[in-house]
Amino acid sequence: MPEVLAYAADDTTTQFHRTTISLREPGPGEIYFDVKYAGICHSDIHTARGEWGPKKYPIVPGHEIAGIVAAVGEGVTKFSVGDKVGVGCMTNSCGQCEYCNAGYEQFCVGTEGGLPGTLWTYGDDADGNPTAGGYAQGFTVSERFACHIPDEIPFETAAPLLCAGITTYSPLKRYEAGPGKKVAIVGMGGLGHMAVQIAAAMGAEVSVISQGRSKEADALKFGAKHFYATSEEGTLESLAGTFDLIVCTVSADDLDYTAFIRTLKPFGTFVDVGLPEHPSKIHLAALCGGNKALAGSQIGGIAQTQEMLDFCAQNGIAPQVEIIGGEDITAAYDNVVASKVRYRYVIDTATF
Ligand code: NAP
Ligand code: ZN
Repeated sequence: MPEVLAYAADDTTTQFHRTTISLREPGPGEIYFDVKYAGICHSDIHTARGEWGPKKYPIVPGHEIAGIVAAVGEGVTKFSVGDKVGVGCMTNSCGQCEYCNAGYEQFCVGTEGGLPGTLWTYGDDADGNPTAGGYAQGFTVSERFACHIPDEIPFETAAPLLCAGITTYSPLKRYEAGPGKKVAIVGMGGLGHMAVQIAAAMGAEVSVISQGRSKEADALKFGAKHFYATSEEGTLESLAGTFDLIVCTVSADDLDYTAFIRTLKPFGTFVDVGLPEHPSKIHLAALCGGNKALAGSQIGGIAQTQEMLDFCAQNGIAPQVEIIGGEDITAAYDNVVASKVRYRYVIDTATF
């Protein structure tokens, strides 16, 4: 079994330290790759800090993973040694249920005698052993759950596409962001800065709604036409009836969702992808006038993840990242929570 260096946290205080983990040799249909880069998603922080319920420790997070294939198991057809490869939030599913068959492996409900449902990239102990994620120098995975990273995408920036990219691409595609559509992205962090670039490349007229003005120049550079700051009084009121589609990426608990819903046009849709820790209060009556819709979206299937990677390559889209070392992970978590990251921390595993 390959032994590799990794960074783990031992409890919800998320003080990361270097450790060693054992990975399985690639079995039939599996690949083993050297992890080169791993993004820090806000979901890693929610998870490792126990904000979504208790986890087993030590935990090695990381579900935005980019690497180079180092070994292939028997029968592997999709990858060869030396290929650039990406893995996101899931590493297996039953492959037979109605959701797997429809390309939504993230909603796998399992099959009798097979996997009980989606296997998540880290901290999932469906088989009794918590899985380890991408803050490590290696990873073993079924080739079905790995994607090709196109050469056009600068490799050191690619990892965040595997979660932030697909999580925003999927609802933008489903709700038809495109020419003639006014799309607002709420919160411009890791997910939000990808949403702006993708929606603009799809041809939509993009607005960013941020807490303050500090990200305005970047938003325009990413392709937004308009920028609004909720810190300025009356901002949302002045936007009443403006947007066809809103994608909300905010992770905080205290957002005034009702005020955002009022900025939709009739027949507009508010899609949430942010995952706050606590329940939120919404005045549902705001949906009725104008037949508005409230929706959610969770990552995207594997085929759509490859489609998103190819879309980004074709449109010259890439995450804007700050490369950090293993020793910087602990501080990076606090910076993400304080909205200080521009716009995704990516761990260079060579620093381990
Ligand atoms: P992030 O980088 O921290 O970005 C969140 C952004 O929300 C911040 O940059 C900030 O943008 C805004 N924000 C933060 N606190 C706020 C507050 N109190 N009020 C209003 N806005 C606030 O996080 P991320 O990695 O993009 O993830 C965002 C959320 O999506 C997390 O909850 C994460 O767990 C979730 N997520 C969901 C999925 C899914 O499948 N649905 C996948 C991945 C992540 P501004 O500075 O522009 O205001
Ligand atoms: Zn994520």
